[in-house]
Amino acid sequence: MVQYVMFRGVVRKLKKERLFREIRNRESRQGRAVRIDGRDFLNFSSNDYLGLASDGELIDHTLEILRRFGVGSGSSRLLAGGTSIHAELERTAAFFKDTEDAVVFNSGYTANTGAIPALMEKGDALFSDELNHASIIDGCRLSGAKRFVYHHCDIDELRNLIRKSDARRKMVVTDTVFSMDGDIAPLREIYDLCRDEGAALYLDDAHGTGVLGRGRGALEHFGLEAKDFVIQMGTLSKAIGSFGAFIAADGNVIDCLINRARTLIYSTALPPVAAAYGLTAMKKIMTDGGRTAKLWANIETAHKGFDMMGISKGESSVQIIPVIFESVEEASDLAAYLYEKAIYAPVIRPPSVKKPRIRISITASHTEDDIHILLGAVGEYFEKKG
Ligand SMILES: *Cc1c(COP(=O)(O)O)cnc(C)c1O
Repeated sequence: MVQYVMFRGVVRKLKKERLFREIRNRESRQGRAVRIDGRDFLNFSSNDYLGLASDGELIDHTLEILRRFGVGSGSSRLLAGGTSIHAELERTAAFFKDTEDAVVFNSGYTANTGAIPALMEKGDALFSDELNHASIIDGCRLSGAKRFVYHHCDIDELRNLIRKSDARRKMVVTDTVFSMDGDIAPLREIYDLCRDEGAALYLDDAHGTGVLGRGRGALEHFGLEAKDFVIQMGTLSKAIGSFGAFIAADGNVIDCLINRARTLIYSTALPPVAAAYGLTAMKKIMTDGGRTAKLWANIETAHKGFDMMGISKGESSVQIIPVIFESVEEASDLAAYLYEKAIYAPVIRPPSVKKPRIRISITASHTEDDIHILLGAVGEYFEKKG
């Protein structure tokens, strides 16, 4: 009874403010179409950007690994949890991101919350974009370093903050593609600034990996070299279609992570099936650019459609397209309209974002018709509303 009273108020308040969230489960594979509550929907809310999460060839290959290695890893990477698959994934990730070394983490969330505190501590300074992912915010908090949050992509403010700081060590942390707005950080300027000021640069390439730079990610997109001051986090959970993450960087950085990252040391290793699926998908992205090219064709169709209808999509230039509203009610109204039309694109509510929105994710598995159906429905909605 005590619990009931303790938490009832929290739930009530969330409901009253229309910020209450509920989990919806699908009854099908991830993909362009999903079945929810017995109904088939066109899915525009997946981070499976290349449609690799349900790829037949990858599934067949992974079944062999599953039979050979079983499911559970049994212990931490530092004990007996790792396999030759983990090692090959790390070599491949380092090659993919053009770095000396790499290490696998169990998710993007635990990569950021483990790596940032392993690298930075009290007396150091972290510079973080205000729209960075929650896992970066948490990682920065856990580190004990002094935190400086700069306005979104404000390079002048960032420069001033770095120059004013007399911290022992400095590190800039940024999303490459911002997860809720679909805009890209000005990486060339940030990269030059970090190099000139002797700061490390930690890039969260969760939404750039598999998408930008012919799949290799944000650095490749900008033609920047993975020099030793750059640390790249990539996830296996989005375009790569599996689960898990990796950090690719200079060998010293990786050794530091293996010895100090608590989310790596004190957690059971990623199951070899997830590692194998990610590994095979990563190789596929490197050897066959077809899916990334298809994704970009779809992105172009979607952006053109929004532009032609005069519907704002903020600063987005990639596969993540936000339709932003002032209130949760308005955003929910569009989501409900789309849901009626069998289009799945739910509301993203505060505090995940400041302004509520429908976050549309375009993928390579969508057909051109799928995109036109989405555009038609969104256009119709705004027409009806006047
Ligand atoms: C999704 C995401 C993460 C977390 O990755 P998971 O593998 O889902 O834990 C981290 N950073 C960014 C920018 C993300 O979008």
